[in-house]
Amino acid sequence: MGKLIINAAITGMIPTREMTPHVPITVEEIAADVRRCRNAGASIIHLHARAEDGNPTYRKDIHEEILHAVREACSDIILCVSTSGRNFELFEQRSEALDAVDPAPEMASLTLGSMNFPQQASVNDPEMIRSLALRMRERGIVPELECFEIGMVEYSHYLISRGILVPPFYCNILLGSLGTLSATKANLTAAVEALPKGCTWAVAGIGRYQLQANTMAILAGGHVRVGLEDNIWYDNERVRLATNAELIERVVSIARSVGREIATPDEARTMIGLKPSIESLRSSS
Ligand code: ZN
Repeated sequence: MGKLIINAAITGMIPTREMTPHVPITVEEIAADVRRCRNAGASIIHLHARAEDGNPTYRKDIHEEILHAVREACSDIILCVSTSGRNFELFEQRSEALDAVDPAPEMASLTLGSMNFPQQASVNDPEMIRSLALRMRERGIVPELECFEIGMVEYSHYLISRGILVPPFYCNILLGSLGTLSATKANLTAAVEALPKGCTWAVAGIGRYQLQANTMAILAGGHVRVGLEDNIWYDNERVRLATNAELIERVVSIARSVGREIATPDEARTMIGLKPSIESLRSSS
């Protein structure tokens, strides 16, 4: 098994300061937490932006501030933004983060279908998926394909056949969110078998399923997404609140205990097929 790529989903749309003191919300908090996550072993950072009031925002200027601060704090981590439709419906809103420059995002989330979260629907209609994917293609941004169902994984084949999705492919299989695919070995196997050829795949688990979903992925040769976006607790008893770095450290120790080393951001770029970082081009010239 090759090295493990750790995608850190540190903020998300849901966690608030009231729920956990450890969720990074301001630009400074996000940049500082990214540094800790990188030191712990993360190679991709999955970012969500919050406005001054702490609520999720799609605004490009705030994304640019965050991306810039993260790049200052951490010269090599892979930058990934969200196009989540959880709070925002319009393409113009959901695609704003894709227009960020200096630095531009290298990856962006793209959910491949509609579904229910426990308390609300997440609507990603065919036209929205197509438009977001094409905007990413135009900008040279690689989608972080988010699949909560095997049908979403299978939909990628249709998008590839139409030239809407182009290589390289990176897919997150999200297990354990109420109302979608549960975190079982059989479900994971079926989802992985449905992936397009040459796709780098990772597994996320929602809430209490995070640890077992990540562990299944490590053992099966996949990669992981971990962080407070998906789960704020360190333990199943929900007594101890986690930090992002602690969740990553635990994944690293599980991976090492079964003989898997951790990919650096530049190694992850090569494995996924992303463009090399400016940093690595500089040091090799
Ligand atoms: Zn997200």
